[in-house]
Amino acid sequence: MPVTKKKTAAKKSNTIKLKFDTSWSYDPAPESKSAATIKPRYDLFINGEWQKPAGNKYFATINPANEEKLSEVAEANTADVDKAVRAARNAYEKYWKKMPAKERAKYVFRIARMVQEKARELAIIETLDGGKPIRESRDFDVPTAANHFFYYAGWADKLEYAFPNRRTEPLGVAGQIIPWNFPLLMAAWKIAPAISTGNTVVLKTAETTPLTALKLAEIIEEADLPPGVVNIITGAGETGAAIVNHPDVNKIAFTGSTDVGKIIQRAVAGTDKKVTLELGGKAANIIFEDAPIDQAVEGVINGIYFNQGHVCCAGSRLYVQESVAKQVIRKLKDRMESLIVGDPLDKNTDIGAINSRSQLETIQKYVKIGKQEGAEMYESSCSLPRKGFWCRPTLFTNVAQSNRIAQEEIFGPVLSILTFRTDDEVIEKANNSPYGLSAGVWTDKGSKIFNMTKRMRAGVIWANTFNKFDPSSPFGGYKESGFGREGGLHGLSAYVSLKV
Ligand code: NAP
Ligand code: MG
Repeated sequence: MPVTKKKTAAKKSNTIKLKFDTSWSYDPAPESKSAATIKPRYDLFINGEWQKPAGNKYFATINPANEEKLSEVAEANTADVDKAVRAARNAYEKYWKKMPAKERAKYVFRIARMVQEKARELAIIETLDGGKPIRESRDFDVPTAANHFFYYAGWADKLEYAFPNRRTEPLGVAGQIIPWNFPLLMAAWKIAPAISTGNTVVLKTAETTPLTALKLAEIIEEADLPPGVVNIITGAGETGAAIVNHPDVNKIAFTGSTDVGKIIQRAVAGTDKKVTLELGGKAANIIFEDAPIDQAVEGVINGIYFNQGHVCCAGSRLYVQESVAKQVIRKLKDRMESLIVGDPLDKNTDIGAINSRSQLETIQKYVKIGKQEGAEMYESSCSLPRKGFWCRPTLFTNVAQSNRIAQEEIFGPVLSILTFRTDDEVIEKANNSPYGLSAGVWTDKGSKIFNMTKRMRAGVIWANTFNKFDPSSPFGGYKESGFGREGGLHGLSAYVSLKV
């Protein structure tokens, strides 16, 4: 796979002619696959054991960068889900809810440390299974996952300080369903607060990226967590639906698309299941004329091309104040040219593989729609590997607010750029979206930041930065981006009922 890309940094001075060659390229710097062990087949992790699926069916998970099969994983059916829920119930009633909180915390701390110890292997597997650059899995996904375990382990025996003058009780069995874009991190977001507060868990991974959650199951096994406290199962949409519809599940935590979120909400209507939904997004990133432009351009690049745009909070709509629009667009195009697209295992890679063929088709469909809508497309000139699923970093200018590429979630490295003149105009445009997960504001004025963020309908708003996460910060959306918060204190309240 070509991973090198020539960069020209020829800076010509009016008077002095440089005598050395200023063009340069990267040598490949691949991370080694041999540092990771992937079994040829994985069963279901139920009741602390690896159990064969009742239907004896397995499906393959591939590396989207070369379409090679990595392993095969079990397809859990309704009987398996029932077995997992029963194991979780048993663990909950018999020991987990009764265990002193500080003892529970020790297990969660142990998991956190083991995630750190196995960080390299987890990062390699995340990259192989999902296609994201190793730099991201190594520097973001895995450490942030470990941090979530540490953070919630710390709260386990301090809930009286999180909820003063209230007594907390766990909810019971939590059914948790995660998407494919941050497999290990999403598993950590869900499992860590749930078990720290005394609940037990049945978690289903996404079809295309099951491997790091299964590695986490191995860690949980090694950490000697009592059997049944965490059950990790693999399967398709029906497996997720079986968890949602199981009568003995007390809480559903779902991260995924708005369409499936709506199905889940309908399914639990009329039951006493508690629900949190973390759904899609179409984040507005707003650049004012007084912003530090280079910093903003870097933030926009990070916001949309980070993780191939497979990010619910990706800054996929860019609003630029008219007076600086030309300058920003030129700088964006220049920067796009320097992005390295290629082998996700290479440490120099900026943009890895698209997660699946069907996601690539969705992105291509939207690029076509954008052109048909009359927007002007620009993509970087990089070459793409022949095998696997790839997409060049792409942007659209001349986009209208009503265009589908400005309204719908593309979930790929495709940016829609719009312009504005006044604060009121950009607030109206940014809020004119069915989603409200995240947003970004770039300006030199603190007062403007506060004024804007107060009026914007988005769960998370970054100022002069983008896509920054911390376990102590709550995350979640408005409108069709879902409800409930994960992370921080707010993430605790999703797993407890408060008593006086
Ligand atoms: P998805 O199709 O909704 O799938 C999410 C999970 O739900 C997967 O495990 C999926 O299984 C499962 N599922 C599918 N149909 C189901 C059903 N009827 N009942 C229960 N579970 C079902 O979403 P995705 O394509 O994996 O992920 C991308 C979406 O997630 C984007 O819209 C993105 O914005 C959103 N997301 C949101 C956040 C957030 O925090 N707000 C974070 C990350 C991603 P299969 O894999 O087998 O289909
Ligand atoms: Mg895969």
